[in-house]
Amino acid sequence: MAKPRIVAIDDEAEFIDMIQNYFGLRGYDIAVAIRGTKGIELVKEKKPDVVLMDLKMPGIDGDEVLSLLKSMDPSPKVIFVTAYDDGGKTKARLLKMGAYAYFDKPISSLRDLEEAVNKAAQA
Ligand SMILES: [Mg+2]
Repeated sequence: MAKPRIVAIDDEAEFIDMIQNYFGLRGYDIAVAIRGTKGIELVKEKKPDVVLMDLKMPGIDGDEVLSLLKSMDPSPKVIFVTAYDDGGKTKARLLKMGAYAYFDKPISSLRDLEEAVNKAAQA
């Protein structure tokens, strides 16, 4: 089976570089955006299996990007990767909105994230 196609949306350039290197080196087709609006365009264009999404970004936040994506095409699985912490309230809200999973930033294990991406793509 082909490796999942990924779009990553995050305003933090260092994080985006790290994610792009990690998945790119492992043969994944990954495209990245540092703004939600650009990310939505990329999702339309690339039709990814999985979207890796930041929550807090200039312009539109990840939760709004999630609802826009879900109204466009509910098939890509959205995995949040965020440092935002309010005791789990936002996490619960995002999962209820249709997010597939939620990871805390900084990521403690890229391998765990990779596993989640593969699981999401098969779900
Ligand atoms: Mg951010």
